[in-house]
Amino acid sequence: MSTDTASGKDGSAGSPDVARVLGATCELAVRFLECLPSRAVAATASVETMRGLLSSAMPARGEDALSVIEHLARALEPGLVASAGPRYFGFVMGGATPAALAADWLTAAWDQNAFSHVSSPAASVVEEIVAAWLLDLFGLPRSAGVGLVTGGQMANFTCLAAARGDALARLGVDVEQVGLAGAPEIAVLVGAQAHVTIDSALRFLGIGRRQIGVVAADEQGRMRPEALREALRRRRDPVIVCTQAGNVNTGAFDPLREIVAIAHAHNAWVHVDGAFGLWAAAHPELRRLTDGVETADSWAVDGHKWLNVPYDSGFAIVANARAHYHAMRLGHASYLVRSEGGQERAGSDWVPESSRRARAFAVYAGLRSLGRTGVTELVERCCIWARRLADSAKREPGVVLMNEVVLNQVLLRFVEPGVSDEGDDELTTAVIRRVQEGGVCWVGPTTHQGRAAMRVSISNWSTTGADVDRAAQAIVDALRACRPPNGSPRI
Ligand SMILES: *Cc1c(COP(=O)(O)O)cnc(C)c1O
Repeated sequence: MSTDTASGKDGSAGSPDVARVLGATCELAVRFLECLPSRAVAATASVETMRGLLSSAMPARGEDALSVIEHLARALEPGLVASAGPRYFGFVMGGATPAALAADWLTAAWDQNAFSHVSSPAASVVEEIVAAWLLDLFGLPRSAGVGLVTGGQMANFTCLAAARGDALARLGVDVEQVGLAGAPEIAVLVGAQAHVTIDSALRFLGIGRRQIGVVAADEQGRMRPEALREALRRRRDPVIVCTQAGNVNTGAFDPLREIVAIAHAHNAWVHVDGAFGLWAAAHPELRRLTDGVETADSWAVDGHKWLNVPYDSGFAIVANARAHYHAMRLGHASYLVRSEGGQERAGSDWVPESSRRARAFAVYAGLRSLGRTGVTELVERCCIWARRLADSAKREPGVVLMNEVVLNQVLLRFVEPGVSDEGDDELTTAVIRRVQEGGVCWVGPTTHQGRAAMRVSISNWSTTGADVDRAAQAIVDALRACRPPNGSPRI
């Protein structure tokens, strides 16, 4: 390697000035965050524009680290989405609280491998502490296994892997020995509005669509207990039931206490996809929505949504820690000294990864800076904002609120009285596009009960009442702009 390519502007050949690079980077990051509340929420450049700006052949020679960073900050700016900001209401996305973000920076600087206590005692212990705090916050069994994963998808996968192994083990089948080829078929029952990541998690686990039964849901997307009872009657062991705490459209919760009782009476494993909704369990009153959640067998929950830690962060929690461990533990290669004396917990034994980011640090900092009351307030505030946005939007003629706003999700539809339903799909789609282009806030499209809807999810720690009012006004303005004056053709 030629020394000039690796040298900084200060000429320190081969040793770029870390302090200079990180100091300047910090300023760039702070400037971005300061502009976050006022910038257009959507990206101002399209994918094609970004490709045009950035595409280049693999550089032959290296470049000074700081100039690379400055190039990144400048060139990527138009393609960045203000999803960490206070008026991004698409999908279900949180931002990053200052403590969690700062801890995440340190995580990169420390560059610990959270594989085990041998690779990093710090990461290992913080992971243990965070695991205990989460179980406490959610009111889940203290003996449960907890794995720190990348998000809801991998949490669902991990939990369902434990479910698969346990369901077969109870029939005397060791799936690790015989594989699925030597095992009885597993039946899986999912609610009609299960999240798509349940499908993919099952697919990764070798469970095919033919094995998946769909249980009817009500108009809010809640699994119907009677339909589950009926579906279970028609299935032989082993059965896994996938429930939901927090429907991605409506925010609704399956009636967990009843569903778990029905499922357990049939020896079925109950998994709860609580990617964002499980956070309701951390709130003393909203907890009623999750009534009975602690009686289930496994839970998937995100950190990067409602807890507002940076991507990527999720938690796989399994009541039967042994089943969790058996599904995820690494094989015992002799050089992998994970637990001297066999006592220490190795973080990698609870997740699909081996070497891994120490994502516990950001979770620890986030939880410690919020405290129990801070978590409660964060959850409560987002729910109040959702209610406020719904109430204020629906005062406008032609705005229809499609869901019961029980949590942080609002579903809106835009109609013209006296015109066909199909036209309303078109109008709703047009209003969503206009809001997105307007840049005041960002909301996404969805389909609810076969109809187009605007989905608003309020999950960011920094959203204020004023942000919500501005967003509601932007939505109403977009509707007025899309609505034709009486009698003229639409749009
Ligand atoms: C977001 C979400 C998921 C997937 O989580 P990721 O963090 O995107 O992997 C699963 N289930 C529900 C209900 C969700 O809202």
